[in-house]
Amino acid sequence: MTFDIDHFRVKPGDKLDLAEFDTRATPFWDSKDKSGALVRLAQLNERLESLQELLWAQGSERILVVIQAMDAGGKDGTIRHVFEGVNPSGVRVASFKRPSSRELAHDYLWRAHKQVPADGELTIFNRSHYEDVLVVRVEKLVREKRWRKRYDHIVNFEQMLVDEGTTIVKLFLHISKDEQRERLQARLDEPHKQWKFEPGDLGPRKKWDEYQEAFADALGRTSTKSAPWYIIPSDRKWYRNIAVSEILIQTMEGLEMQYPEAPEGVADIVIPA
Ligand code: ATP
Ligand code: MG
Repeated sequence: MTFDIDHFRVKPGDKLDLAEFDTRATPFWDSKDKSGALVRLAQLNERLESLQELLWAQGSERILVVIQAMDAGGKDGTIRHVFEGVNPSGVRVASFKRPSSRELAHDYLWRAHKQVPADGELTIFNRSHYEDVLVVRVEKLVREKRWRKRYDHIVNFEQMLVDEGTTIVKLFLHISKDEQRERLQARLDEPHKQWKFEPGDLGPRKKWDEYQEAFADALGRTSTKSAPWYIIPSDRKWYRNIAVSEILIQTMEGLEMQYPEAPEGVADIVIPA
């Protein structure tokens, strides 16, 4: 079955109700076939590895992958599994934590702009400038008058990056509230996961609906033809991984990258004994 990535794409201006999405869905895949998905992921990992090598060798495209999710939504796990085997030289993860006082002393896009990929690079934003219309909105860290304007800034900022040669893929890992409870509980129950548990994560959980609404607005208002959002059903981690891999691979294949031409006569060179 062909994996049609358009299925996951948010249409510009969509008024979304995230509760309508089935976070356990497995479009284009048999929901019982987890073992087949693991085999498929290994193939996709190899394909992504060669595409990233090509990106690096060609050295003229830039790729920005933005990942957002609720706490325990699987951002780290996705990065680990999808990019397994990729040459770390050309791939970078930029994590956006609570802003430092120096970051807060600038506009909110300042720290994001500093981290965007250069030629030949693939950069993953683990959280991103979208926090500035998510946590900032829900926790009322700035006034509404201020965050309301940010959707337009973000669309324009991303359009500028695209116009200057960056390809942008934005992924929302959509989990259910029940799945989040299970994952947070697992962090408490499993000793090697306890370090991941942050009591602070229970705050946003209490405001689940407000966060979902903020996500819905952000996705609908900032998904554009040039910088689309994809909503990934993410309760099943194995499915999430193949969906994300497919989206990245198909996007990169669309760039029709080529290896640079070899210097003339290179095929005839004989390495001296
Ligand atoms: P993990 O999955 O390992 O917990 P994480 O992405 O949750 O990773 P943390 O350091 O636990 O990383 O959390 C980062 C926190 O910083 C999140 O609560 C996030 O909402 C917050 N944050 C990020 N950007 C901003 C921002 N611009 N303003 C306020 N808070 C922000
Ligand atoms: Mg956290």
